[in-house]
Formats: sequence, C-alpha cells, structure tokens
Amino acid sequence: MRPVLPLAMGDLLLLRKQHPCGSDRWEVVRLGADIRIRCLGCGHLVLLPRSQLEKRVRKKLNSHLSEESENGGGGEPG
Ligand SMILES: [Zn+2]
Repeated sequence: MRPVLPLAMGDLLLLRKQHPCGSDRWEVVRLGADIRIRCLGCGHLVLLPRSQLEKRVRKKLNSHLSEESENGGGGEPG
C-alpha cells in the first residue's frame, strides 16, 4: 500500500518536471480514473492516470486561494 495523494478539483500541484513554457504549476481540472491537469503557464491540458501523476507530483499546494498572492493579509475595513 502506498500513500494516496489526496486530490480535489482546483488543487494546485508542483510537478518535478517543468513544462516547456516555464511553469511547473498545474491545476487539477478533472478527477476520475484518469486525472486531467492544466498548466498554469500556458493552459495546456494533460490527462494522466493517477499513478503516473503521483509519481510526477513534487508538492501539493493548498489551493489557488492561498500560497503567494498575499500581500500582507486582511482587507480594509468598511
Ligand atoms: Zn505550460
């Protein structure tokens, strides 16, 4: 039994290998027996069996709502 990578729609993944466009970030856009991910750099879509994808993932990011794109935190009141 190997650890299963929990995946959900919209998850961001850092892959071991960088895409030719320069981005190594991918978003999960479809789940199933095969998983479809989209390159955040160029929008390229790739369909991979889960087992293949798990081998390629270097890190899973929380979601595109957290991690970076935070400049300080908190909004302005009112
Ligand atoms: Zn790309």
